[in-house]
Amino acid sequence: MPVSEINSELDGVGPYNRLSASQVNTYNSCNRMWFYEKVLKLKIKQIPVLYVGRAVEEAICRTFKESPSLLLSNASQDTLSKIPIGMDGKPSRELNLTWPANRIIPLPENQIPGTLEEIEIWAKERMKLHLKSALLAAQKDWERQERKFGDWSDVKFDYCLEMCFNALKYHLDEVNRCFLSIDESVLSKWRAGHREHWPAPDGFGFTINSKHPLAKEGKISILEAWEIARPWFVEPESGQFSMNAIHPNYWFQGEYDLVYRWDGSIKIVDIKASKGIGDRSGDYVEQLRMYAMLWWITHGKKETVSDLEIWYLGAGVIKSVKNPTEIEMANMEAELEQLWHRLKGQKTSIEKHPANPSPVRGFSEGGVPTASPKEEKRCDRCDWNSFCSGGQGLEYVEPNGFYQLPGKTTETNTVPFDQLTVRFNLSANIDSINYRENDSPEIKIIQDGNRATVDFRVTMNQDGEQNYPNGLKKNDLIYLENVIITSNYRGELTVKLDPLGKLTNVAGDIDYSDNLLNFRARWDIVGKLAYKFQRSGIGKNGREWHRKGLVIFDSKQSIKVSGWSNDWGHQYDMANEGDYVLLSNIELDAWADQLRGQIGRNSRLDVVSS
Ligand code: SF4
Repeated sequence: MPVSEINSELDGVGPYNRLSASQVNTYNSCNRMWFYEKVLKLKIKQIPVLYVGRAVEEAICRTFKESPSLLLSNASQDTLSKIPIGMDGKPSRELNLTWPANRIIPLPENQIPGTLEEIEIWAKERMKLHLKSALLAAQKDWERQERKFGDWSDVKFDYCLEMCFNALKYHLDEVNRCFLSIDESVLSKWRAGHREHWPAPDGFGFTINSKHPLAKEGKISILEAWEIARPWFVEPESGQFSMNAIHPNYWFQGEYDLVYRWDGSIKIVDIKASKGIGDRSGDYVEQLRMYAMLWWITHGKKETVSDLEIWYLGAGVIKSVKNPTEIEMANMEAELEQLWHRLKGQKTSIEKHPANPSPVRGFSEGGVPTASPKEEKRCDRCDWNSFCSGGQGLEYVEPNGFYQLPGKTTETNTVPFDQLTVRFNLSANIDSINYRENDSPEIKIIQDGNRATVDFRVTMNQDGEQNYPNGLKKNDLIYLENVIITSNYRGELTVKLDPLGKLTNVAGDIDYSDNLLNFRARWDIVGKLAYKFQRSGIGKNGREWHRKGLVIFDSKQSIKVSGWSNDWGHQYDMANEGDYVLLSNIELDAWADQLRGQIGRNSRLDVVSS
């Protein structure tokens, strides 16, 4: 099965702590790069090509999901979009729900394509439609990014469409192969309504109780081949990261792009909206080998993948990757598990991950291996070049924590990041509760006469479970675990629940003795500047707003600090990547395992060393 359903109570690793193929590849490229990106969670430059790749894949999958037997080529692109989604972000298995394809009456014979060529014409029209909206959404998403770089006008619709058409060509080859070579028993099963446990997304849901609505009789038709050859892919409407395959011991996960399996053999395809030139092509080979291992392990080591392919859509080339043998997969599993223990099973810090990158590999168009480009160094193109000791920066040095700042009579003592207290466990009573439709309730709590508002920033915790019990009422005693407390400028308290927080009415095996008032409102911290960012826009009141921020780090973690532009002093503009900056009087916040900070009018920034 391409998706794992796990028992979250047995999952001692959690979704934020698993290893992935991209992490392994980053680690092998440069240990220090892995530390910056996966431990410090520094965000790479958000360039349009990252967003284009997702848009192209979306247009492909949305087209593959559709059926020429149900939709005219000019039908709305949302026709199959309203599928039932469960709380965990996965398509819902609840019975008696209506799926969009069930509501559609198949088109009359004279309106459906009758040949592969006619299906191609239909699919190309669908792709144009889907690509247009996917690129528009991608552009909006890119424009929202604080770390956006590049120029969206470099994105060319025709080039992106050409990439989609290349994927269509490869898919139609598979449809034709199915048409020409399908086994009678496979066809009969499909016509009788048989579905895989995770069917290829087609708008029909998990079960078809009788004959397939698009089944014909006699020899297979080309339209049936379109339905049967459809690969599994992530349902475009599902929640982000909800459709992963996960190692039975939880330490590794991956998300396949396309899985063809109509003839009983398994082919995993990775879609790349690129030409396959350069170092990263080496990563894609390793990624597919890891996916072959993941498939084998998640199928009880009884089912192996037959084919691994990278579709370089920019070059119009399919690259086949050699399957690892069972011995190679067993060794890979053992090595990756060891790596997980080394990287994730314990707290780590910068000195354990040297700035010692591997040589750049050479690949020409279509991912063909070539000689390594001797002149090119990995650090030259690295996003962290400006402050990393492998690039133009200096090695990280732990600040001493005591500073005499200009204009201040007393010394400022900064708090090391690992001593910043941001999470609390407390008990309180419900002061008021207001239920809302399709949303978490509005709750105010009271503890020793102090009141606070509960802010559900998410409604589900990291395990995909609702983060509050049903049936809560006024005066109930509740327990708040791992919550963040903040106060606004009027001193009003807010208790925030992010994916790590939980509200319950049954005490767990932890100490709930924290008090609403024992959080510290303001902190002084110092760290090395990784990068600055800014965002602006027009508010609902028509006024322009402008926010700025920066990310600083110490040897173990980073903090993203943001605030209104006017609240940052002139030293913000003077601070350069690699400088050590001291932030005084900031408020702390968090999101999952990332610390966040907020500056206000009384905060201040000082560059303490360059
Ligand atoms: S600058 Fe060089 S050493 Fe530093 S993270 Fe990048 S590749 Fe690694």
